[in-house]
Amino acid sequence: MFSKGLSFLTRAMFPQRCLQCNVVLSILEQSLCQFCLCSAPQLDTIAAQRTMLLSSTLSTDRPTSFRSALYFTGPVQIYCYSLKYGNNYPLGVVLGRHFLSPLILTTLAGQRRPVVVTAMPVHLWRRLGRGYNQSEALARGALQGVRAAGVDVQFLALLGKTAHRKSQINFDPFQRWNNTQGALRTTKKKRVPKDALIFIIDDTVTTGSSLLRAAEAVLLEYPKAEVHLLALAQEL
Ligand SMILES: [Zn+2]
Repeated sequence: MFSKGLSFLTRAMFPQRCLQCNVVLSILEQSLCQFCLCSAPQLDTIAAQRTMLLSSTLSTDRPTSFRSALYFTGPVQIYCYSLKYGNNYPLGVVLGRHFLSPLILTTLAGQRRPVVVTAMPVHLWRRLGRGYNQSEALARGALQGVRAAGVDVQFLALLGKTAHRKSQINFDPFQRWNNTQGALRTTKKKRVPKDALIFIIDDTVTTGSSLLRAAEAVLLEYPKAEVHLLALAQEL
């Protein structure tokens, strides 16, 4: 209660501005104004279908899906950069809540099955440098949105990194695919309900290879679960 009052006072004295358009935010807004959030470039149906096809490469007899919320262009590049390098955890929560929780809710489509959300891991030294894992910030926001819709959901850290691997920036798609092999592992076995729907969250995807590897690792450990992949932004 006290800290809430304090944050209200801080916001009144030091008003926050929208990361994109610089307008002063209302007390109910965080990082981005409602206008900018609503005008973010959402993936059109054809691009979304193309991404979904990637999930068909997973060897599982259970339904899977692969969806991205936004195009990685203009303002979305600013969001992702600020989330990764701008020490902006609250932005991740806002983006996860606004863009990823609706995708989780539509995938559930009213099903009453246990829901688990997990995040793509980052290396420990990157996490220490940034202070947080950007995909986990998105996942926490997604969790908030799903809970606000009355659905019970838990966050579990199911994935970790095995070893340092090279940055993928200068790699072609084939090199990226090979570079991701063996880079992920599942963490010590968690209590995942048998028939759970597991959502793996990532910030940006290009070929989707890292997320597909993550799905394979999770399915190996929890073969009865159903895995769905969600990314905030799709690079073109
Ligand atoms: Zn704005």
